[in-house]
Amino acid sequence: MRLILLGPPGAGKGTLAGRLTDCLSVPHLSSGDILRAQVRQGSDLGPALQKYMESGQLVPDDLIVKVMISRVTQPDCAAGFILDGFPRTLPQAQALNDQLTEVQAPIDMVIYLDAGEQVIISRLAGRRVCPLCDANYHIETMPPATSGKCDRDGTDLQARPDDAPQVIRTRLQEYSRLTEPLLEYYGTAGRFARLDGNKDIEEVFGQAQEVLTKTFGCVDEL
Ligand code: AMP
Repeated sequence: MRLILLGPPGAGKGTLAGRLTDCLSVPHLSSGDILRAQVRQGSDLGPALQKYMESGQLVPDDLIVKVMISRVTQPDCAAGFILDGFPRTLPQAQALNDQLTEVQAPIDMVIYLDAGEQVIISRLAGRRVCPLCDANYHIETMPPATSGKCDRDGTDLQARPDDAPQVIRTRLQEYSRLTEPLLEYYGTAGRFARLDGNKDIEEVFGQAQEVLTKTFGCVDEL
């Protein structure tokens, strides 16, 4: 199952991907997590990547395409993957399509999570992340068991620097300028579903299960 999750920041792509990865048994590939890991590991490109990310701008297409194409061609992606945050521009989508066409492994489905601006802003403002393992929480809707600590490794949780209000504005502008055109690109290509990302995760997960089952018949793992 090769799946793309599209949608604005804060729509719940990462949370949904986290649920789907367990039941579909394919890896969850978050482009943001992969870039943040490169910064943490001190890669040569780290400082440049960090500058783009902290300002809310997209990193250049050639760079992210190289990183993500190399990721989707790893052996653990042979049975599929869930892409979260990639592609985010038309050139990225075209590069992905070229690569997958070459290996005759096309995208099976694109799920678009739609959410309103107020929901997005309140989700991002309340988001807390673990700087060690990238686990995500929300202070009200998905709090950790112990306040301020990651459930998995006990690390102190932090707000992401790009969840600051002025950076959220830039990210939403980047989304409507560069990513929204993908809705038409994929919307006309078939196997495209829009889910209501304003709802809570259980409801969104239920919608995703329904769509996948309807499209692929009986999806055993669901
Ligand atoms: P995310 O964790 O998906 O919100 O991504 C955080 C940041 O990483 C974005 O604001 C961008 O700076 C960068 N980023 C993630 N994915 C991409 C992508 N596909 N293209 C360009 N930049 C990206």
